[in-house]
Amino acid sequence: MNRTFYHNLADNSIAGTLPTREQAEEILTSKDVELFSLLNAAYDVRRECVGKSVTIHIINNGQNGHCPEDCHYCAQAKSSDADIKEYPLKTDEEFLAEARNAYEKGAHRYCMVFAGRGPSKGRVEKLANLIRTIKSKYPIEICVSAGLLDENKAQVLKSAGLDRLNHNLNTSSEHYAKICTTHTYQDRLNTLDAARRAGIQLCSGVIVGMNEKESDVIEVAYSLQQRKVESIPVNFLMPIKGNPLDQMPNLTPEYCLRVLCLYRFVNPRAEIRMAAGREIHLRSLEVLGLYPANSLFLDGYLNTRGNERLKTLQMIQDAGFSIESNRSLDDIIKAEREADTGRIEDSVTRTIMKGLTDLRPEMAVSPKKQ
Ligand code: SF4
Repeated sequence: MNRTFYHNLADNSIAGTLPTREQAEEILTSKDVELFSLLNAAYDVRRECVGKSVTIHIINNGQNGHCPEDCHYCAQAKSSDADIKEYPLKTDEEFLAEARNAYEKGAHRYCMVFAGRGPSKGRVEKLANLIRTIKSKYPIEICVSAGLLDENKAQVLKSAGLDRLNHNLNTSSEHYAKICTTHTYQDRLNTLDAARRAGIQLCSGVIVGMNEKESDVIEVAYSLQQRKVESIPVNFLMPIKGNPLDQMPNLTPEYCLRVLCLYRFVNPRAEIRMAAGREIHLRSLEVLGLYPANSLFLDGYLNTRGNERLKTLQMIQDAGFSIESNRSLDDIIKAEREADTGRIEDSVTRTIMKGLTDLRPEMAVSPKKQ
């Protein structure tokens, strides 16, 4: 590819003219694509459209396991034999402590995830009260992932102050039945549309590495663009023993970076997150993901650990980026060093399951309380 190819990709994306499907295919597969030229073009779009900062997310699992759905990548599915630490819904006090922790660690947004097909009316009311309480105490945005929602339920959450709803598309319409049989791709689209009508920002992304074709990854990028999704987590499958999708996908760091670049060109103004699996699949090239992506998770994922927090924060600082937070990156790094969390680990090179102390500290200390 000559320089014009990369310049045009960047200039067109900034101007709102998206790559053609043919170009999208080339971005993911062409041997003629130079990785650094592609990253440079994606970075031009990132800098122009969303700036140089990184948004840090901390995700918290409100309950673990017991989900009646059968998403093949998920350790919480009833159909999964994964060895996870199941627990019922956390108390409001636990959620509040986590929200405070997220705020103090510099997170811009606190994400609560609830396993299940979707919340009942009663559960939605309780969640709305919790959102109101958190919002009254901490200046932090709130994102909730709660399964399938209709517009009435979305409206209740919006009225309570919910900023964003997470509901990932995960893969293409064609591939969807191969990763889940208990709900459909259309169910997922309906939830996104209901949340949008209620005025809630959308967070919806993809999981790469589930035996899909490149065209599936491309389709999700454009589906999200059509819905003007504000926040796009790009996950790379972290296989968990006991799940139907338990094999390590054959993803190279270069392919993962190409995917992040594609998502930036197609969704120039979205928050693109290099999400689960960045440690395993991007490996030594992880820092390069910050050039197309402008967001990441700090503290691991739903049931798996990520890199040591300090290492991630240091990576952001070393690459010359700032963070979206009321607190400075310097202060947060200093506090992490002083905290000496005992989590000084090597870079993650395989899936490491979280223990109960990671997932639900309260329960690990006093199990009789439950
Ligand atoms: S609905 Fe959510 S929690 Fe349930 S199996 Fe699917 S991804 Fe996991």
